[in-house]
Amino acid sequence: MISKIVTIKSIEMLNQYLQADEFKDCLNSSVSAFVQIFSSQRDPDWLMGIESALRGMMPQAVIAGVTTMGEIAEGRMLINTTVISLAFFEKTRIQGFLVEGDRGNEKDLGEKFSRKIEACPEIAGVMLLATPYTMNISDFLKGFSAGRSQDYPVFGGGAGDYEAIQKPLITLDGNYTSKGVLAVVFMGNDIHIDLHTYLGWQPLSKKMVITETDGLWVKKIDDEPAFEVFHRYLDIQNDKDFFLNVLEFPLLLERNGIQYAKAPMEVNEEKAIKFIAELKEGESVCIGYGNPAVMIEKANDIQNRIQTFNPEAIFLYSCICRRFLLQSEVDLETRPFETIAPTSGFYTYGEIYSHGKHVIMLNATMLAVSIKEQDGKKYQQETEQRMIKPKSLDPFTSQHTRIISRLVNFIKVVTEELEDANREARRLAERDYLTQAYNRMKAHEFIENEIKRCDRYDLKFSIIMLDMDYFKKVNDTYGHNLGDEILIQLVKLLSQEIRKIDMLSRWGGEEFLIIMPMTDRDGAKIIAERIRIAVAQTPFTRGLRQTCSFGVTTYKKGESIESFIDRVDKALYEAKITGRNRVIAK
Ligand code: GH3
Ligand code: MG
Ligand code: MG
Repeated sequence: MISKIVTIKSIEMLNQYLQADEFKDCLNSSVSAFVQIFSSQRDPDWLMGIESALRGMMPQAVIAGVTTMGEIAEGRMLINTTVISLAFFEKTRIQGFLVEGDRGNEKDLGEKFSRKIEACPEIAGVMLLATPYTMNISDFLKGFSAGRSQDYPVFGGGAGDYEAIQKPLITLDGNYTSKGVLAVVFMGNDIHIDLHTYLGWQPLSKKMVITETDGLWVKKIDDEPAFEVFHRYLDIQNDKDFFLNVLEFPLLLERNGIQYAKAPMEVNEEKAIKFIAELKEGESVCIGYGNPAVMIEKANDIQNRIQTFNPEAIFLYSCICRRFLLQSEVDLETRPFETIAPTSGFYTYGEIYSHGKHVIMLNATMLAVSIKEQDGKKYQQETEQRMIKPKSLDPFTSQHTRIISRLVNFIKVVTEELEDANREARRLAERDYLTQAYNRMKAHEFIENEIKRCDRYDLKFSIIMLDMDYFKKVNDTYGHNLGDEILIQLVKLLSQEIRKIDMLSRWGGEEFLIIMPMTDRDGAKIIAERIRIAVAQTPFTRGLRQTCSFGVTTYKKGESIESFIDRVDKALYEAKITGRNRVIAK
């Protein structure tokens, strides 16, 4: 495999290259050729002009194009150019597929598309280019994953456009669309494709929860309109520049131990925010920001790993927000790839990446794809020459990124400290100091919520109130400290006897309240009886035996919290006066 990258500003420049011996030699010694066009111009005539110039010289090639928000050639970011990346293969076969996205049902479309592709023999990898502005690519990829029966790597990116008018184009073999997905399938046993991805974004804000969403549109975060969060913390306005301003601040979340970023796209009248990839209700998120130091460190780490793979070409799909974040220093991240192999790619609007059988759309990441045929021998002749290129840029030019790194770190640490302090304050406000059971105030709040839930959904819940028998005597005989110890032991024992959804609180002195959602009176009575026996059979400190008396009752729809508590109090009182160490249910 041989990879060549040319940057053009006119068709004449391209024609000149196509007449050169270097190009003709590559073409003559290959069985197939794959051409990628990364274009800053969103003009179909420009793209089709390039296509026909290329087609005239290489009628068999697969030619795929995409409009971008920044091109990558020889590891550097270019703007307002067109990059042509040519790959000449000695043995690998390639085939292109294009599907228009106008039918609406993206999931179904994706599934049919991957089934169609799988008719190709010996698939070694698939590149996808898509238009995420105009289609739900998350859904498309869900379908695409479902239709897959093999585990070949899938990679690619979402088309963008400089004007942010949201009509990017993808092109394949003379056709183009602003709503669709194209696939280029690499076939054969000689080609090897290796994917690496990394993020480098760090949490800035406190943790928040997605409280209302319908797929791509997130309506509420922490019960307030999603836009308000970005407005309050970042002073971002709901105007035509929303997308450009918010780009560097994706929401970060963790799924199965992997950190993901989801970039906001637009705001609607209800102040809901549309995201490029799906977020789910109940997911915990925070606003993130890229830390240049982390990004560059991770890039170096991956570059070291790629080096041992010995690739003949590297394709980079780097999120547009990295370009905005790193600005003039963005090459710090991409340039070292060029010392390994010819590197081309573009700044994407979403990175397409396969993780096992699942193909997903990432955000804010850098996806580096290494490709070689056989074991990359062809390329090795050039390696030495490449390696003597300077590996790092002038450190003084990266002052901007170093300042950002320190500020991001500062905010991260302050946020963590505040979150820890809040957590501790909440614990102190909710828990009893001696036993660490919930306090009476928290129990009250829990009962009020449970009453609301039960009234609304017609559910049942019950409470158990228990009090130590003759506890005064323990204090009088053995001292207050031992009394305290027994209280702590009792709470431990009670905690073991109840379910996760139940709540144990210290109602006062040596009196405890257990709140049991989804439990009727008979169920609660059985549990109280079980606890009574467990307490009576447990030797406490110094082998002391203790018993408790229990009142049990269930919530009656519509009654007040006072009458509910009063009833359980009476049941407990009855247990006391009828001999103690017993359960009375009312
Ligand atoms: P009974 O409930 O069976 O009627 O008898 P009792 O002796 O337990 O009577 P009562 O409930 O009136 O007494 C409660 C005692 O619990 C009084 C107090 O000394 C003790 N007590 C309350 N809170 C604590 C505490 O935090 N630590 C200790 N060591 N004792 C406490
Ligand atoms: Mg008592
Ligand atoms: Mg008492």
